[in-house]
Amino acid sequence: MTGILALQGDFAAHARALEACGETWVEVRTPSDLDRCERLIIPGGESTTLGILLKLAGLDTAIPDRIKEVMPVWGTCMGMILLAKEIEGSDQLHFSMLDITVRRNAFGAQVFSFEQGFEMRGLDEPVHGVFIRAPIVTRFGESVEPLAEIDDQIVAVRSDKILGTSFHPELTGDTRIHEYFLSF
Ligand code: GLN
Repeated sequence: MTGILALQGDFAAHARALEACGETWVEVRTPSDLDRCERLIIPGGESTTLGILLKLAGLDTAIPDRIKEVMPVWGTCMGMILLAKEIEGSDQLHFSMLDITVRRNAFGAQVFSFEQGFEMRGLDEPVHGVFIRAPIVTRFGESVEPLAEIDDQIVAVRSDKILGTSFHPELTGDTRIHEYFLSF
């Protein structure tokens, strides 16, 4: 069963995508919800708000503990920010589990949200990316493989069982990246 962190953000869209893949899922709001999952999706949302809610829920330590036990985890947008080792210019709460540096809101404010097609390693056909106040990856360590770029900016990465995407595959009806993550 796949957990979807459901404290804030677009967790419901991930549930619909997992259903389309035939995967069972549970909304994760407490450490005991997390215990029921074999992998976790951290959705898009607002990372500074999520930091506060994670502490209140006790998930600020429970999630990194499970990732260290090699639970597969995928962060979309806010989720990737939370997984990063470093956030440019910010000491907000993050898990430091994925050896990347991210730049938040790299394409500007909400009004500069956009959609763009691009190639992603491992997929035959291009991905249609939805970018909403999206981050980019500005540095990555040796363990990290960049999977996609737009205009030379890295927007998808993988490090073993950790996946990060700047964009929102859960909003497009294209379940290929969900299926990819389910194969971890
Ligand atoms: N800009 C948001 C943040 O920094 C992320 C936006 C998103 O998840 N769509 O938390």
